[in-house]
Amino acid sequence: MVKKSKQTQLDSIRQKIIDDKVCPDLAQQATQLVFGDGDAEADIVFIGEAPGKNEDLTGLPFVGAAGKFLDSMLEMIGLKRANVYITNIVKYRPPDNRDPFPDEKEAFLPYLEAQLDAIQPKLTITLGRHSLNCFLPDLSISQVHGQAKRYKGRVFLPLFHPAAALYNGGMRQTLIDDFAKIPLILKKLETGI
Ligand code: URA
Repeated sequence: MVKKSKQTQLDSIRQKIIDDKVCPDLAQQATQLVFGDGDAEADIVFIGEAPGKNEDLTGLPFVGAAGKFLDSMLEMIGLKRANVYITNIVKYRPPDNRDPFPDEKEAFLPYLEAQLDAIQPKLTITLGRHSLNCFLPDLSISQVHGQAKRYKGRVFLPLFHPAAALYNGGMRQTLIDDFAKIPLILKKLETGI
């Protein structure tokens, strides 16, 4: 049997979210599904919380102020958005940008896992505590940010959320410093040292 391409697998997962009517209340209030963006063959996947206003309008993750900050940090390590894959746990904008509810995160988790299974990234970068705690519920972002963690066959790098760090000088610098570690972490994963 011919193995489906990663992009084809992602397209099927996207359609399944719609067919399965995941979080119909959120879906009804949102403009559109914000599934993910970037290269299905990427080594790095970034996972945020949920779309905000700009993401809801464009259908693309991280296109507002936090997204611009993320783009600038990618540039700092010689990458572009097109070289990585970016998504969120919750794929419809919560009303008024409230935090996603636990049952909403739970409802979307199997689809997020399926995205990771399709892409098979070398490194999965969680942005913020919601994203970290979806996979590693017992860890605190303030204690483990910037430290790669192996869990269930995946390697996670927890980082602060760019929106939280944007206007907080100390956290902003910590996020930039943690981000700068990505190339070395990736290299170590590739060479096994
Ligand atoms: N914050 C997120 O967590 N995700 C986005 O897509 C935008 C802002």
